[in-house]
Amino acid sequence: MTDTINVQAAADKFLSVVGRPLATWAEACVKCGLCAEACHFYQATKDPKYTPAYKILPIAKAHKARTGFLGMLGLAPKITEKDLKDWEELIFDTCNMCGRCTLVCPMGIDIASITGATRAAMASAGIGPADLFAAAENSRDRGSPLGLSPEKLEDRLEWLADDNEIELPLDKKGAEVLLTVSSIEMMKYPDSIVSMAKLLNHAGVNWTFSKKGYEATNFGYLSGKSDIAKMMTMRIVEAAEELGVKAVIIPECGHAYGVMRWQAANVIGRPLPFEVWHITEYLAKLKREGKFEFKPYTTPFTYHDPCQISRRGGAAADARYLMEGFMTDFHEMAPTGNSNWCCGGGGGVQAIARSAPIRYQVFKIKTDQVAKAGVETLVSSCANCRLTMDEAKAATKWTGGLDSIVEILASHLITKDDD
Ligand code: SF4
Ligand code: SF4
Repeated sequence: MTDTINVQAAADKFLSVVGRPLATWAEACVKCGLCAEACHFYQATKDPKYTPAYKILPIAKAHKARTGFLGMLGLAPKITEKDLKDWEELIFDTCNMCGRCTLVCPMGIDIASITGATRAAMASAGIGPADLFAAAENSRDRGSPLGLSPEKLEDRLEWLADDNEIELPLDKKGAEVLLTVSSIEMMKYPDSIVSMAKLLNHAGVNWTFSKKGYEATNFGYLSGKSDIAKMMTMRIVEAAEELGVKAVIIPECGHAYGVMRWQAANVIGRPLPFEVWHITEYLAKLKREGKFEFKPYTTPFTYHDPCQISRRGGAAADARYLMEGFMTDFHEMAPTGNSNWCCGGGGGVQAIARSAPIRYQVFKIKTDQVAKAGVETLVSSCANCRLTMDEAKAATKWTGGLDSIVEILASHLITKDDD
């Protein structure tokens, strides 16, 4: 939490975000408690304070303060500094905005969107985790949450291109596709970037990276800092417009896909002049066009559906289509697809250091799922899920393996060198 708490700014922001949908949800909750069992934070701890319905409280209080008899008279309870402090853990540390609770809510209340709006109000008051805010400010000032500036991007791409003898075009004029990166990949999983490039090059896609718009993650959105969210979105939009590309590809990053695919047009106030694809969707399209052949991958494995790509993104089937035919020993975990359990690190929670202990508790749900699937390898398509689970694996001494679907595709691609 920052030192300065501006309660009035939070109250003003709450009033501005409590539009009709949020107010309707605030009124609609029938307090049935069904959402508790659907949330991994409740499942992992059995602590009632993690019941998703409690995340409606801030919006409900703001709504009451301006409606009804007492609200009209200005006599309804007001949001206080204590409220804001009490809500911080609930809204930032223990909500991944994964949308699983909405699947079971009889009123269809979208807790994930409520959390997003509440974070914006709390961030206006200076309330929120300092490390999450620092990631957002790094994105604004240095280009990315992990300090990947345009110059560093260029350096690292040159290094990766030399090291892997691969073409990694940057600011290529005439390109039709803009590929973005998550700085988590650049700093921790650079093979993922090389793998995307290898697959796109093999398929003959005319693509490029851009120094102007490269960072796919949007910590402005995750931290509730709306101005930074818009800035990060605009960098990609402007880069894509200047290059004149027809499509923007989001790498293995769930929330980056959700923000650009489903929210960007609203954030900038006009339709996007290009298509937005998650990398698994785009590779599935290329596979359908007959651009790939793969050598068999015979390791027994299961697939973790990232919430923002499957449940909230609609791309669960494309990942399975990509794996079909060559990843021969696939075992679905239960529940799976749109009902899959979150990794515990989505929605910026991975960047909040103090949330690590509860993230490790949540990871137990995942390792139990893997064990029940009868395998030891967990494949995913989100670098943030992978990082969350990699850290939890080390902390909990889990012996299973974690892998990326894009890296497996690239390493099993049949090329002309295989002839
Ligand atoms: S959106 Fe996900 S993390 Fe947040 S309360 Fe609902 S189930 Fe829990
Ligand atoms: S399931 Fe929906 S209606 Fe029931 S307590 Fe949770 S949010 Fe409220």
